[in-house]
Amino acid sequence: MFPASFEYVRAHSPDEAFSLLQQHGDEGRVLAGGQSLIPAMRYRLARPGVLVDINPIKELNYIREEGGFLRIGATARDAAVEFTSWIRERYSLITSVSGVVADPIVRHMGTVVGSVCHNDPAGDWTATALASRAVMLVRGKNGLREVPIDEFLVDSYTTAVEEGEMALELRIPIPDERTQGSYQKIERKVGDYATCAAAVQLSLNPDGTIRQAGIAITAAGPLALRVAEAEAMLVGQRPTPELLRAAAAEAPKIATPNSDQRGSAEYKKDMARVLVGRGLKQALERLDAGSRGAVSA
Ligand SMILES: Cc1cc2nc3c(=O)[nH]c(=O)nc-3n(C[C@H](O)[C@H](O)[C@H](O)COP(=O)(O)OP(=O)(O)OC[C@H]3O[C@@H](n4cnc5c(N)ncnc54)[C@H](O)[C@@H]3O)c2cc1C
Repeated sequence: MFPASFEYVRAHSPDEAFSLLQQHGDEGRVLAGGQSLIPAMRYRLARPGVLVDINPIKELNYIREEGGFLRIGATARDAAVEFTSWIRERYSLITSVSGVVADPIVRHMGTVVGSVCHNDPAGDWTATALASRAVMLVRGKNGLREVPIDEFLVDSYTTAVEEGEMALELRIPIPDERTQGSYQKIERKVGDYATCAAAVQLSLNPDGTIRQAGIAITAAGPLALRVAEAEAMLVGQRPTPELLRAAAAEAPKIATPNSDQRGSAEYKKDMARVLVGRGLKQALERLDAGSRGAVSA
């Protein structure tokens, strides 16, 4: 199907994009990689009057570490994150998700920031952003604001970006040497959205107890969900197999998946438990392998 008619404008700077979005109000929509927006327009699920293409904005195409954060600019592609060597060396959660989002073709166009802004109920980056406690930098009427990811993700396909605003950068805290993560996804075939997936990141204290836990599940409800009870259960404790099992068992308690062609709700709930359990185990194995803490799991 063809999209409804729309105007197309190219922005060459964040200021120009912002001013175009302000000018067009609820008719304006940011076009990033177009991997979600264009299909939605073709199915007439989205009918923006004006597309503001931010791809020409070179100054938003960056991936760098600064001020304690990995900063991913709004036009940085998934594939750029996937193939950045220093990310592969030091960011185990980001590395394990970056190769399983969609397929290589989509990842060469799609942006990480666009994916988080899209806030698909089965999004991989949204769960990752929750587990790593990311922050989104948003340009609004009153200037820039930093929005913690839990406040940024409001509901299915809805975020804290308001009419006339745009997201500029996703900030992910730089993991220290006692932090490791894992992304666990099951999909019907390569390139598909998750049937269910879990993002996990663990930080240890020097004595081997857990200092911080980030756990999120996706394709398990209206949007990616933080498994807060599991996180709280782990912090301050020594990781034992029993504790990991108990933490994983919290995931199905908050999951509210729908039955669909990918599986029954019951199956997906159980997979949330299994995948959180596998993610915790792999994060600990990675910590162990790097001699980054005395682990007794
Ligand atoms: C075949 C296929 C398979 C896929 N499989 C997966 C998958 O397995 N897992 C997964 O997570 N995703 C999947 N996707 C989605 C893909 O990852 C998209 O890249 C992503 O959802 C959106 O990124 P984008 O840059 O293309 O954004 P766009 O499509 O350009 O935009 C998406 C939405 O976000 C808004 N937006 C984008 N950037 C900004 C910004 N800077 N500020 C404010 N709003 C903004 C747009 O206005 C739009 O509403 C798949 C897509 C396809 C086509």
